[in-house]
Amino acid sequence: MRGYSAWRLFRNGLTHREWPAAWRAHELRPSYDVVIIGGGVHGLATAYYLAVNHGIRNVAVLDKSYIGSGGSGRNTAIIRSNYLTPEGVAFYDRSLRLYQQLSATLNFNVMFSQRGHMTLAHNDTSLRTMTWRAEVNKLQDIDSKVIGPDGVKRRVPYLDVSDGARYPILGALYHPPGGIIRHDAVVWGYARGADAAGVHIHQETEVTGIETAGGKVTGVRTNRGTIATGTVVNSTAGWASTVSDMAGVAMPVQTFPLQAAVTEPVRPFLGTVIVSGSLHVYVSQTDRGELVFGASVDPFASYSTRGSLEFIEGLAGHVLELMPSLAKMRLLRQWAGLCDMTPDYSPIMGFTPVEGFLVDVGWGTYGFKAGPVSGEAIAECIATSRTPQIIGSFGLERFAKGDLVGEKGAAAVGH
Ligand SMILES: Cc1cc2nc3c(=O)[nH]c(=O)nc-3n(C[C@H](O)[C@H](O)[C@H](O)COP(=O)(O)OP(=O)(O)OC[C@H]3O[C@@H](n4cnc5c(N)ncnc54)[C@H](O)[C@@H]3O)c2cc1C
Repeated sequence: MRGYSAWRLFRNGLTHREWPAAWRAHELRPSYDVVIIGGGVHGLATAYYLAVNHGIRNVAVLDKSYIGSGGSGRNTAIIRSNYLTPEGVAFYDRSLRLYQQLSATLNFNVMFSQRGHMTLAHNDTSLRTMTWRAEVNKLQDIDSKVIGPDGVKRRVPYLDVSDGARYPILGALYHPPGGIIRHDAVVWGYARGADAAGVHIHQETEVTGIETAGGKVTGVRTNRGTIATGTVVNSTAGWASTVSDMAGVAMPVQTFPLQAAVTEPVRPFLGTVIVSGSLHVYVSQTDRGELVFGASVDPFASYSTRGSLEFIEGLAGHVLELMPSLAKMRLLRQWAGLCDMTPDYSPIMGFTPVEGFLVDVGWGTYGFKAGPVSGEAIAECIATSRTPQIIGSFGLERFAKGDLVGEKGAAAVGH
Protein backbone atom coordinates (compact mmCIF):
# COMPACT_ATOMS: atom_id res chain seq x y z
CA MET A 1 0.00 0.00 0.00
CA ARG A 2 1.30 3.47 -0.87
CA GLY A 3 1.97 5.55 2.22
CA TYR A 4 0.46 9.05 2.33
CA SER A 5 2.60 11.60 4.08
CA ALA A 6 0.94 14.72 5.44
CA TRP A 7 2.79 16.73 2.80
CA ARG A 8 1.45 14.59 -0.08
CA LEU A 9 -2.10 14.79 1.25
CA PHE A 10 -1.76 18.59 1.46
CA ARG A 11 -0.27 18.82 -2.06
CA ASN A 12 -2.94 16.59 -3.57
CA GLY A 13 -5.62 18.60 -1.81
CA LEU A 14 -4.38 21.67 -3.69
CA THR A 15 -3.50 20.11 -7.04
CA HIS A 16 -5.59 16.88 -7.23
CA ARG A 17 -2.56 15.51 -9.17
CA GLU A 18 -2.77 11.94 -7.93
CA TRP A 19 -6.55 11.77 -7.59
CA PRO A 20 -8.20 10.57 -10.78
CA ALA A 21 -11.53 12.15 -11.76
CA ALA A 22 -14.45 10.01 -10.56
CA TRP A 23 -16.24 10.38 -13.90
CA ARG A 24 -15.15 11.69 -17.29
CA ALA A 25 -16.40 14.37 -19.67
CA HIS A 26 -17.34 13.20 -23.19
CA GLU A 27 -18.35 14.64 -26.51
CA LEU A 28 -22.11 14.37 -27.00
CA ARG A 29 -22.82 11.46 -29.34
CA PRO A 30 -25.43 12.03 -32.09
CA SER A 31 -27.37 9.03 -30.77
CA TYR A 32 -27.68 6.88 -27.65
CA ASP A 33 -29.75 3.75 -26.95
CA VAL A 34 -31.11 5.38 -23.80
CA VAL A 35 -31.19 9.03 -22.71
CA ILE A 36 -31.87 9.72 -19.04
CA ILE A 37 -32.90 13.26 -18.18
CA GLY A 38 -31.76 14.23 -14.68
CA GLY A 39 -28.47 13.50 -12.94
CA GLY A 40 -29.82 12.93 -9.44
CA VAL A 41 -29.72 9.65 -7.56
CA HIS A 42 -32.58 8.24 -9.65
CA GLY A 43 -31.13 9.02 -13.07
CA LEU A 44 -27.63 7.90 -12.12
CA ALA A 45 -28.81 4.70 -10.42
CA THR A 46 -30.89 3.84 -13.50
CA ALA A 47 -27.85 4.34 -15.73
CA TYR A 48 -25.67 2.28 -13.38
CA TYR A 49 -28.08 -0.71 -13.26
CA LEU A 50 -28.73 -0.53 -17.02
CA ALA A 51 -25.02 -0.94 -17.64
CA VAL A 52 -24.12 -3.32 -14.82
CA ASN A 53 -27.22 -5.54 -14.57
CA HIS A 54 -28.25 -5.57 -18.23
CA GLY A 55 -25.15 -4.67 -20.27
CA ILE A 56 -26.90 -1.65 -21.83
CA ARG A 57 -24.02 0.82 -21.93
CA ASN A 58 -24.75 3.23 -24.77
CA VAL A 59 -26.52 5.45 -22.27
CA ALA A 60 -26.39 9.20 -21.62
CA VAL A 61 -27.37 10.96 -18.40
CA LEU A 62 -28.10 14.64 -19.10
CA ASP A 63 -28.30 17.26 -16.40
CA LYS A 64 -28.95 20.93 -17.00
CA SER A 65 -26.69 21.79 -14.08
CA TYR A 66 -24.19 19.65 -12.14
CA ILE A 67 -25.07 16.15 -10.94
CA GLY A 68 -26.75 16.19 -7.53
CA SER A 69 -27.82 19.82 -7.95
CA GLY A 70 -31.50 18.93 -7.50
CA GLY A 71 -33.12 17.22 -4.54
CA SER A 72 -30.34 14.64 -4.43
CA GLY A 73 -27.88 17.22 -3.10
CA ARG A 74 -30.40 19.09 -0.96
CA ASN A 75 -32.19 16.42 1.02
CA THR A 76 -31.83 15.51 4.67
CA ALA A 77 -30.76 11.98 3.78
CA ILE A 78 -33.23 9.97 5.86
CA ILE A 79 -33.53 6.33 4.85
CA ARG A 80 -36.30 4.08 6.21
CA SER A 81 -38.88 1.54 5.08
CA ASN A 82 -41.67 1.80 7.70
CA TYR A 83 -44.35 2.93 5.25
CA LEU A 84 -48.10 2.37 5.54
CA THR A 85 -49.19 0.44 2.45
CA PRO A 86 -47.90 -3.08 1.72
CA GLU A 87 -46.78 -1.87 -1.74
CA GLY A 88 -44.82 1.00 -0.21
CA VAL A 89 -43.23 -1.16 2.49
CA ALA A 90 -42.00 -3.81 0.02
CA PHE A 91 -40.62 -1.16 -2.32
CA TYR A 92 -38.75 0.90 0.30
CA ASP A 93 -37.48 -2.24 2.03
CA ARG A 94 -35.78 -3.34 -1.18
CA SER A 95 -34.16 0.09 -1.42
CA LEU A 96 -32.96 -0.01 2.17
CA ARG A 97 -31.39 -3.41 1.55
CA LEU A 98 -29.62 -2.08 -1.56
CA TYR A 99 -28.39 0.88 0.51
CA GLN A 100 -27.02 -1.50 3.15
CA GLN A 101 -24.79 -3.05 0.48
CA LEU A 102 -24.10 0.09 -1.52
CA SER A 103 -20.62 0.95 -0.20
CA ALA A 104 -19.45 -2.54 -1.14
CA THR A 105 -21.36 -2.60 -4.44
CA LEU A 106 -19.90 0.71 -5.60
CA ASN A 107 -16.58 0.41 -3.75
CA PHE A 108 -17.33 3.91 -2.48
CA ASN A 109 -18.14 4.81 1.12
CA VAL A 110 -21.70 6.19 1.21
CA MET A 111 -21.64 6.42 5.02
CA PHE A 112 -24.99 4.79 5.73
CA SER A 113 -25.56 5.03 9.47
CA GLN A 114 -28.47 2.86 10.65
CA ARG A 115 -29.07 4.69 13.89
CA GLY A 116 -32.84 4.18 14.07
CA HIS A 117 -35.84 6.32 13.18
CA MET A 118 -38.45 7.42 15.70
CA THR A 119 -41.80 9.03 14.86
CA LEU A 120 -43.37 10.62 17.93
CA ALA A 121 -47.07 10.36 18.79
CA HIS A 122 -48.57 13.37 20.57
CA ASN A 123 -52.19 12.20 20.57
CA ASP A 124 -54.30 9.05 20.47
CA THR A 125 -54.98 9.31 16.73
CA SER A 126 -51.25 9.31 15.96
CA LEU A 127 -50.71 6.35 18.27
CA ARG A 128 -53.43 4.45 16.43
CA THR A 129 -51.89 5.18 13.01
CA MET A 130 -48.47 4.12 14.32
CA THR A 131 -49.84 0.85 15.65
CA TRP A 132 -51.40 0.28 12.22
CA ARG A 133 -48.07 1.04 10.51
CA ALA A 134 -46.15 -1.23 12.89
CA GLU A 135 -48.54 -4.11 12.15
CA VAL A 136 -48.26 -3.64 8.35
CA ASN A 137 -44.48 -3.46 8.74
CA LYS A 138 -44.22 -6.59 10.89
CA LEU A 139 -46.26 -8.58 8.39
CA GLN A 140 -43.49 -7.86 5.88
CA ASP A 141 -40.70 -8.66 8.31
CA ILE A 142 -39.72 -5.04 8.86
CA ASP A 143 -38.30 -4.18 12.28
CA SER A 144 -40.83 -1.59 13.48
CA LYS A 145 -42.67 -1.26 16.80
CA VAL A 146 -44.59 1.15 18.99
CA ILE A 147 -42.75 2.13 22.18
CA GLY A 148 -43.97 4.09 25.22
CA PRO A 149 -42.65 7.38 26.67
CA ASP A 150 -40.11 5.50 28.83
CA GLY A 151 -38.65 3.82 25.75
CA VAL A 152 -38.49 7.20 24.03
CA LYS A 153 -36.73 8.81 27.00
CA ARG A 154 -34.24 5.95 27.27
CA ARG A 155 -33.18 6.39 23.65
CA VAL A 156 -33.30 10.20 23.58
CA PRO A 157 -32.83 11.60 27.10
CA TYR A 158 -33.00 15.19 25.84
CA LEU A 159 -36.65 14.89 24.80
CA ASP A 160 -39.23 16.40 27.10
CA VAL A 161 -41.61 13.48 27.84
CA SER A 162 -43.18 15.10 30.89
CA ASP A 163 -46.96 15.46 31.24
CA GLY A 164 -46.45 19.22 31.35
CA ALA A 165 -45.15 19.46 27.78
CA ARG A 166 -47.41 21.43 25.45
CA TYR A 167 -47.34 18.47 23.02
CA PRO A 168 -47.01 15.47 25.35
CA ILE A 169 -45.20 12.45 23.95
CA LEU A 170 -47.51 9.45 24.33
CA GLY A 171 -45.20 7.03 22.51
CA ALA A 172 -43.43 6.55 19.20
CA LEU A 173 -43.09 4.31 16.19
CA TYR A 174 -39.52 3.04 16.42
CA HIS A 175 -37.77 1.64 13.34
CA PRO A 176 -34.20 0.52 14.17
CA PRO A 177 -32.97 -0.07 10.56
CA GLY A 178 -33.73 3.54 9.56
CA GLY A 179 -31.00 6.14 9.56
CA ILE A 180 -29.09 8.71 7.58
CA ILE A 181 -26.59 8.58 4.74
CA ARG A 182 -24.15 10.92 3.01
CA HIS A 183 -26.25 12.04 0.02
CA ASP A 184 -23.37 13.48 -2.06
CA ALA A 185 -21.45 10.24 -1.71
CA VAL A 186 -24.43 8.27 -3.05
CA VAL A 187 -24.62 10.54 -6.13
CA TRP A 188 -20.87 10.45 -6.72
CA GLY A 189 -20.67 6.70 -6.13
CA TYR A 190 -23.37 5.91 -8.69
CA ALA A 191 -21.83 8.41 -11.14
CA ARG A 192 -18.41 6.81 -10.75
CA GLY A 193 -19.83 3.31 -11.15
CA ALA A 194 -21.92 4.24 -14.19
CA ASP A 195 -18.99 6.02 -15.82
CA ALA A 196 -16.70 3.02 -15.27
CA ALA A 197 -19.34 0.80 -16.92
CA GLY A 198 -19.39 3.01 -20.05
CA VAL A 199 -22.23 5.49 -19.41
CA HIS A 200 -21.74 9.10 -20.58
CA ILE A 201 -22.60 11.74 -17.99
CA HIS A 202 -23.21 15.16 -19.54
CA GLN A 203 -23.50 18.03 -17.09
CA GLU A 204 -24.73 21.50 -18.15
CA THR A 205 -26.79 19.81 -20.86
CA GLU A 206 -30.39 20.95 -20.71
CA VAL A 207 -33.16 19.10 -22.48
CA THR A 208 -35.36 21.66 -24.22
CA GLY A 209 -37.63 19.33 -26.19
CA ILE A 210 -38.54 15.69 -26.71
CA GLU A 211 -39.14 14.58 -30.30
CA THR A 212 -41.81 12.02 -31.12
CA ALA A 213 -43.22 10.53 -34.32
CA GLY A 214 -46.21 8.20 -34.63
CA GLY A 215 -46.61 8.02 -30.84
CA LYS A 216 -42.95 6.99 -30.28
CA VAL A 217 -39.95 8.84 -28.92
CA THR A 218 -37.31 9.60 -31.56
CA GLY A 219 -34.93 11.97 -29.81
CA VAL A 220 -34.27 14.87 -27.46
CA ARG A 221 -33.29 18.46 -28.19
CA THR A 222 -30.69 19.98 -25.91
CA ASN A 223 -28.79 23.24 -25.57
CA ARG A 224 -25.83 21.32 -27.10
CA GLY A 225 -27.66 19.78 -30.06
CA THR A 226 -30.14 17.05 -30.88
CA ILE A 227 -29.67 13.41 -29.84
CA ALA A 228 -31.47 10.56 -31.59
CA THR A 229 -32.81 7.87 -29.27
CA GLY A 230 -35.74 5.48 -28.93
CA THR A 231 -35.82 5.53 -25.12
CA VAL A 232 -36.02 8.53 -22.81
CA VAL A 233 -36.41 8.43 -19.02
CA ASN A 234 -37.71 11.45 -17.13
CA SER A 235 -35.90 11.47 -13.74
CA THR A 236 -36.20 15.16 -13.01
CA ALA A 237 -38.17 15.21 -9.70
CA GLY A 238 -39.08 18.90 -9.18
CA TRP A 239 -39.24 19.47 -12.95
CA ALA A 240 -41.23 16.28 -13.63
CA SER A 241 -44.28 17.95 -15.16
CA THR A 242 -42.43 20.44 -17.37
CA VAL A 243 -40.23 17.68 -18.85
CA SER A 244 -43.15 15.26 -19.32
CA ASP A 245 -45.07 18.06 -21.06
CA MET A 246 -42.31 18.06 -23.71
CA ALA A 247 -43.42 14.53 -24.65
CA GLY A 248 -47.10 15.46 -24.42
CA VAL A 249 -47.67 13.39 -21.27
CA ALA A 250 -49.50 15.21 -18.45
CA MET A 251 -48.31 14.41 -14.93
CA PRO A 252 -50.70 14.73 -11.96
CA VAL A 253 -48.09 16.49 -9.83
CA GLN A 254 -47.75 19.87 -8.19
CA THR A 255 -44.33 21.25 -7.34
CA PHE A 256 -43.64 22.67 -3.88
CA PRO A 257 -40.47 24.01 -2.24
CA LEU A 258 -39.20 22.09 0.79
CA GLN A 259 -36.84 23.81 3.18
CA ALA A 260 -34.30 22.50 5.67
CA ALA A 261 -31.66 23.93 7.99
CA VAL A 262 -28.47 22.93 9.78
CA THR A 263 -26.83 24.11 13.02
CA GLU A 264 -23.25 24.50 14.12
CA PRO A 265 -21.63 21.18 15.13
CA VAL A 266 -21.84 20.05 18.76
CA ARG A 267 -20.76 16.89 20.59
CA PRO A 268 -22.80 13.84 19.58
CA PHE A 269 -25.90 13.48 21.78
CA LEU A 270 -28.67 12.41 19.41
CA GLY A 271 -28.34 8.77 18.46
CA THR A 272 -31.50 8.44 16.37
CA VAL A 273 -33.63 10.33 13.85
CA ILE A 274 -36.65 12.02 15.45
CA VAL A 275 -39.82 12.99 13.60
CA SER A 276 -42.92 14.73 14.90
CA GLY A 277 -45.76 14.79 12.39
CA SER A 278 -47.97 16.93 14.64
CA LEU A 279 -45.26 19.55 15.07
CA HIS A 280 -44.16 19.27 11.42
CA VAL A 281 -40.52 18.87 12.30
CA TYR A 282 -37.74 16.29 12.23
CA VAL A 283 -34.15 16.29 13.43
CA SER A 284 -31.02 14.16 13.14
CA GLN A 285 -27.38 14.68 14.07
CA THR A 286 -24.74 14.17 11.40
CA ASP A 287 -21.45 12.40 11.98
CA ARG A 288 -19.86 15.86 12.03
CA GLY A 289 -22.12 16.87 14.95
CA GLU A 290 -24.47 19.29 13.14
CA LEU A 291 -28.20 19.04 13.78
CA VAL A 292 -30.18 18.80 10.55
CA PHE A 293 -33.77 20.04 10.77
CA GLY A 294 -36.59 19.69 8.29
CA ALA A 295 -40.31 20.18 8.10
CA SER A 296 -43.15 19.80 5.62
CA VAL A 297 -43.33 21.57 2.25
CA ASP A 298 -44.06 25.28 1.93
CA PRO A 299 -47.82 25.90 1.83
CA PHE A 300 -47.90 27.04 -1.83
CA ALA A 301 -46.85 25.56 -5.17
CA SER A 302 -43.75 27.29 -6.58
CA TYR A 303 -40.42 26.73 -8.34
CA SER A 304 -38.60 29.01 -5.89
CA THR A 305 -35.65 27.62 -3.94
CA ARG A 306 -35.29 30.60 -1.61
CA GLY A 307 -35.30 30.04 2.12
CA SER A 308 -37.67 32.15 4.24
CA LEU A 309 -37.51 33.68 7.72
CA GLU A 310 -41.07 32.49 8.32
CA PHE A 311 -39.93 28.88 7.89
CA ILE A 312 -37.01 29.24 10.29
CA GLU A 313 -39.15 30.92 12.95
CA GLY A 314 -41.76 28.16 12.79
CA LEU A 315 -39.14 25.43 12.74
CA ALA A 316 -37.20 26.81 15.71
CA GLY A 317 -40.40 27.13 17.76
CA HIS A 318 -41.34 23.52 17.10
CA VAL A 319 -37.85 22.18 17.77
CA LEU A 320 -37.83 23.95 21.15
CA GLU A 321 -41.20 22.43 22.07
CA LEU A 322 -39.47 19.06 21.77
CA MET A 323 -36.00 19.87 23.09
CA PRO A 324 -35.95 23.10 25.11
CA SER A 325 -32.24 22.58 25.83
CA LEU A 326 -31.37 23.51 22.24
CA ALA A 327 -32.36 27.15 22.79
CA LYS A 328 -28.79 28.46 22.51
CA MET A 329 -27.78 26.52 19.38
CA ARG A 330 -26.93 28.62 16.34
CA LEU A 331 -28.23 27.88 12.88
CA LEU A 332 -25.53 27.89 10.22
CA ARG A 333 -27.65 27.89 7.08
CA GLN A 334 -30.94 26.98 5.47
CA TRP A 335 -31.82 25.93 1.92
CA ALA A 336 -34.67 24.66 -0.22
CA GLY A 337 -35.30 22.14 -2.99
CA LEU A 338 -38.25 21.27 -5.22
CA CYS A 339 -40.65 18.41 -4.58
CA ASP A 340 -43.12 16.98 -7.11
CA MET A 341 -46.11 15.90 -5.03
CA THR A 342 -48.64 13.35 -6.30
CA PRO A 343 -52.24 13.11 -5.03
CA ASP A 344 -51.55 9.84 -3.14
CA TYR A 345 -47.99 10.57 -1.93
CA SER A 346 -46.65 7.64 -3.97
CA PRO A 347 -44.38 7.84 -7.02
CA ILE A 348 -45.24 7.55 -10.72
CA MET A 349 -43.00 4.99 -12.40
CA GLY A 350 -42.69 3.09 -15.64
CA PHE A 351 -44.13 3.27 -19.15
CA THR A 352 -46.39 6.05 -20.47
CA PRO A 353 -48.76 6.29 -23.43
CA VAL A 354 -45.83 7.57 -25.56
CA GLU A 355 -43.75 4.55 -26.58
CA GLY A 356 -40.18 4.81 -25.36
CA PHE A 357 -40.95 7.56 -22.84
CA LEU A 358 -40.64 6.35 -19.24
CA VAL A 359 -41.06 8.28 -16.01
CA ASP A 360 -39.51 7.93 -12.57
CA VAL A 361 -41.09 10.90 -10.82
CA GLY A 362 -43.50 11.96 -8.06
CA TRP A 363 -40.86 11.68 -5.38
CA GLY A 364 -42.25 14.39 -3.18
CA THR A 365 -40.28 14.82 0.02
CA TYR A 366 -39.21 11.20 0.32
CA GLY A 367 -37.51 10.02 -2.88
CA PHE A 368 -33.85 9.92 -1.95
CA LYS A 369 -34.30 6.68 -0.05
CA ALA A 370 -35.91 5.18 -3.17
CA GLY A 371 -32.98 5.87 -5.50
CA PRO A 372 -31.45 2.36 -5.62
CA VAL A 373 -34.69 0.38 -6.02
CA SER A 374 -36.02 2.86 -8.58
CA GLY A 375 -32.86 2.67 -10.65
CA GLU A 376 -32.95 -1.11 -10.51
CA ALA A 377 -36.65 -1.27 -11.49
CA ILE A 378 -36.55 1.31 -14.30
CA ALA A 379 -33.47 -0.36 -15.76
CA GLU A 380 -35.41 -3.65 -15.74
CA CYS A 381 -38.39 -1.97 -17.48
CA ILE A 382 -36.09 -0.82 -20.28
CA ALA A 383 -34.15 -4.07 -20.61
CA THR A 384 -37.17 -6.39 -20.57
CA SER A 385 -39.99 -4.11 -21.86
CA ARG A 386 -42.00 -5.30 -18.83
CA THR A 387 -42.95 -3.63 -15.56
CA PRO A 388 -41.37 -5.43 -12.58
CA GLN A 389 -43.87 -6.42 -9.92
CA ILE A 390 -42.22 -4.24 -7.25
CA ILE A 391 -43.36 -1.06 -9.07
CA GLY A 392 -46.56 -2.53 -10.54
CA SER A 393 -48.79 -0.36 -8.33
CA PHE A 394 -47.04 2.91 -9.17
CA GLY A 395 -48.02 3.27 -12.84
CA LEU A 396 -49.46 6.51 -14.25
CA GLU A 397 -52.69 4.72 -15.22
CA ARG A 398 -53.69 4.32 -11.54
CA PHE A 399 -54.97 7.89 -11.45
CA ALA A 400 -57.44 7.23 -14.28
CA LYS A 401 -58.54 3.95 -12.68
CA GLY A 402 -58.75 5.32 -9.12
CA ASP A 403 -56.31 2.70 -7.80
CA LEU A 404 -54.40 5.05 -5.53
CA VAL A 405 -51.61 3.91 -3.16
CA GLY A 406 -52.38 6.19 -0.21
CA GLU A 407 -49.13 6.88 1.64
CA LYS A 408 -49.96 10.27 3.15
CA GLY A 409 -50.05 8.87 6.69
CA ALA A 410 -46.44 7.71 6.42
CA ALA A 411 -44.85 10.04 3.87
CA ALA A 412 -46.05 13.57 4.62
CA VAL A 413 -43.42 14.83 7.11
CA GLY A 414 -41.50 11.67 7.86
CA HIS A 415 -39.45 11.75 4.61
C1 LIG B 1 -34.98 19.85 1.85
C2 LIG B 1 -35.28 18.46 1.36
C3 LIG B 1 -35.19 17.40 2.24
C4 LIG B 1 -35.46 16.10 1.79
N1 LIG B 1 -35.26 15.07 2.66
C5 LIG B 1 -35.40 13.78 2.21
C6 LIG B 1 -35.07 12.72 3.08
O1 LIG B 1 -34.67 12.92 4.24
N2 LIG B 1 -35.22 11.44 2.61
C7 LIG B 1 -35.65 11.19 1.35
O2 LIG B 1 -35.78 10.02 0.99
N3 LIG B 1 -35.92 12.20 0.48
C8 LIG B 1 -35.82 13.49 0.88
N4 LIG B 1 -36.07 14.54 0.03
C9 LIG B 1 -36.57 14.26 -1.34
C10 LIG B 1 -35.42 13.88 -2.24
O3 LIG B 1 -34.42 14.86 -2.21
C11 LIG B 1 -35.90 13.73 -3.70
O4 LIG B 1 -37.08 12.98 -3.75
C12 LIG B 1 -34.85 13.01 -4.53
O5 LIG B 1 -33.58 13.58 -4.34
C13 LIG B 1 -35.22 13.03 -6.00
O6 LIG B 1 -34.11 12.54 -6.70
P1 LIG B 1 -34.10 12.55 -8.28
O7 LIG B 1 -32.85 11.90 -8.72
O8 LIG B 1 -35.40 11.98 -8.77
O9 LIG B 1 -34.17 14.09 -8.68
P2 LIG B 1 -33.15 15.29 -8.44
O10 LIG B 1 -32.06 14.94 -7.51
O11 LIG B 1 -33.97 16.49 -8.10
O12 LIG B 1 -32.49 15.45 -9.85
C14 LIG B 1 -33.21 15.95 -10.94
C15 LIG B 1 -32.20 16.59 -11.87
O13 LIG B 1 -32.86 16.90 -13.09
C16 LIG B 1 -32.20 17.99 -13.65
N5 LIG B 1 -33.07 18.59 -14.66
C17 LIG B 1 -34.25 19.19 -14.49
N6 LIG B 1 -34.75 19.61 -15.67
C18 LIG B 1 -33.86 19.25 -16.61
C19 LIG B 1 -33.79 19.40 -18.04
N7 LIG B 1 -34.77 20.02 -18.72
N8 LIG B 1 -32.71 18.93 -18.69
C20 LIG B 1 -31.70 18.29 -18.01
N9 LIG B 1 -31.72 18.13 -16.67
C21 LIG B 1 -32.77 18.60 -15.98
C22 LIG B 1 -31.91 18.90 -12.45
O14 LIG B 1 -30.83 19.78 -12.68
C23 LIG B 1 -31.62 17.88 -11.34
O15 LIG B 1 -30.23 17.71 -11.10
C24 LIG B 1 -35.85 15.85 0.43
C25 LIG B 1 -35.93 16.93 -0.45
C26 LIG B 1 -35.63 18.22 -0.02
C27 LIG B 1 -35.73 19.35 -1.00
